[in-house]
Amino acid sequence: MRVIPIPCLKDNYAYLVVCDDTQMAGVVDPAEAGVVLRAVDIEGVTLRAVFNTHHHPDHVGGVPELVKAIPNLEVYGHRVDKNRIDGFTRGVEMGDVLSLGNLKIEVIHNPGHTTGGVTYLVEGCAFTGDTLFGGGCGRLFEGTPETLFHSLTKVLGRLPDTTQVFFGHEYTEQNLKFAAQLEPDNEWIHQRLKQVEDTRKRGGITTPSTLALEWATNPFMRCGNLEFIHRVQARDPTVEGRPEEVFTAIRKWKDRF
Ligand code: ZN
Ligand code: FE
Repeated sequence: MRVIPIPCLKDNYAYLVVCDDTQMAGVVDPAEAGVVLRAVDIEGVTLRAVFNTHHHPDHVGGVPELVKAIPNLEVYGHRVDKNRIDGFTRGVEMGDVLSLGNLKIEVIHNPGHTTGGVTYLVEGCAFTGDTLFGGGCGRLFEGTPETLFHSLTKVLGRLPDTTQVFFGHEYTEQNLKFAAQLEPDNEWIHQRLKQVEDTRKRGGITTPSTLALEWATNPFMRCGNLEFIHRVQARDPTVEGRPEEVFTAIRKWKDRF
């Protein structure tokens, strides 16, 4: 398998996922059609499917044009998003396994950012949309903090540490600045922030990361860590020590950061 990140709009990523045996491809979150069709051309692959992580326009905007350009294109999304994604052909849910050439794609339902949020898992690569970002997570548009916290740490968190995380936006640098402010003595965060700043200065991209790196540096993954909880309580003593309460507090702080 190979994965080609395709920068879209201001800071979105679509991803072209290619089965090397058959040269069949799928695209995750095509915010725009033009850049995707160009990548399909350059790679010399056959586009068979669209994998939508959720219904937001900055992720599905290119779908109608792709459907027009390519006959029989399968357009996947969570079944609750049936009427919210233009061009939708097939509803998926937790545990479904889809195929693309010889690749098997597993569907993981992770609500919180939206009710129909899904991650697609292919050969150790997780396409997380706006659920899990490099150093951060999506905003709570259609869910409670508890729901998103569960999706991040209990559902995605069950995947192996080596899982590669392909996220939906280039927010990593800003996210890590917030993380560094919360945990000034976390060396992993400082190292990662420095690397990310260098990468961005060179015009590079920070996707993918790994789940291990997110556990070590992403505050939204760290709310069960005692040291982290104490850091948050030092900043606001009214925050209770339950991980869900800590998550709720830092999600609010991040919204204003
Ligand atoms: Zn979104
Ligand atoms: Fe988005």
